[in-house]
Amino acid sequence: MAEYLASIYGTEKDKVNCSFYFKIGACRHGDRCSRKHVKPTFSQTILIANMYRNPAHDPSCNMTEEQLQEDFDLFYEDVFTELAKFGEVEEMCVCDNVGDHLVGNVYCQYRYEEDAGNAVESLNNRFYAGRPLYAELSPVTDFREACCRQHEIAECNRGGFCNFMHLKHPNRALRRELEEAQRLTVREKRKETRNRDDEGRRGREMEMPEYGREREA
Ligand SMILES: [Zn+2]
Ligand SMILES: [Zn+2]
Repeated sequence: MAEYLASIYGTEKDKVNCSFYFKIGACRHGDRCSRKHVKPTFSQTILIANMYRNPAHDPSCNMTEEQLQEDFDLFYEDVFTELAKFGEVEEMCVCDNVGDHLVGNVYCQYRYEEDAGNAVESLNNRFYAGRPLYAELSPVTDFREACCRQHEIAECNRGGFCNFMHLKHPNRALRRELEEAQRLTVREKRKETRNRDDEGRRGREMEMPEYGREREA
């Protein structure tokens, strides 16, 4: 029985735990959901709810597709750079859905859980574009499972109100640039830590003769 429950955990067959919350980190019923939303205590993934505001959702918007993409790329770069300060980012995704629980959601998966924890703590005291940020650890582990397949291949007939993630992608060149910049920073940081460790070891070696003399005395 326990094995069966484990195998259906977070799937549609699970009558206790909400599969939407488990897979997508957000469910349209929110706190009123009849199934459980089990908030993780540790996770590599964080969610910053409703952070991106797509100007195209404003009825008076007269920006061209190109301008909208540029506007999004600036947002993506800005946020990625900020989030990478907490640690190595594996993936950052931005939702272009329009339903309240998914609109503008930013998900960031870190390499280490510890960095995700620090990011959540710090972001909850910060503002972006004049609005306070709301960040939490998210149960999302696999963005492929969370994304709407129809939207990925063509057009989803549920449009922006779909309950799976409809991602807005940054310009490819920008994404490569950010990943490359991060690789360089990570390499620099590793070198620094290694140097620090080496110095520490040298320091200890120098203390050893002292220690030896004291024992002889
Ligand atoms: Zn739910
Ligand atoms: Zn969809």
